[in-house]
Amino acid sequence: MALERTLSIIKPNAVEDGHTGAILQRFEQEGFRVVAMRMAHLTRAQAEGFYAVHKERPFFADLVQFMTRSRVVLIVLEREDAIAHYRKVIGATDPAKAEPGTIRKLYAKSLQENAVHGSDAVETARFEIGWFFPGHDLA
Ligand code: ADP
Ligand code: MG
Repeated sequence: MALERTLSIIKPNAVEDGHTGAILQRFEQEGFRVVAMRMAHLTRAQAEGFYAVHKERPFFADLVQFMTRSRVVLIVLEREDAIAHYRKVIGATDPAKAEPGTIRKLYAKSLQENAVHGSDAVETARFEIGWFFPGHDLA
């Protein structure tokens, strides 16, 4: 297993509902180290560019609207096998299908307002980390 980095976002619904601390604590309990972190109120251009891979999907406009509604927390996390382990900890995209105890099962409101983002592959993580933390050391 390789040491990896992944881009996490605590989405607007989870920040609004006061779950930031609990989610960060869970990441640390799961062995992730916080490499970089900041709060941001995303612009439309930032959200559209971040989710460009989904721009043809019917939910794209609503997703951008949601992600720019209020502040998010942008976090670079590091761990052995970070990308796969993180996806396991957050659970399925649709909280109705997420395993008990996963972050999405605990804190999501809906398929759209599913509390957290996570990178899905090494190359995606590289793009996503660079998108929000330009010039960051990805080594
Ligand atoms: P994940 O965040 O699990 O990687 P995707 O990359 O497929 O999921 O989708 C990105 C985000 O878009 C999801 O986290 C969710 O907020 C939203 N989303 C995905 N599918 C739908 C859908 N069918 N309807 C509404 N929102 C969706
Ligand atoms: Mg995705």
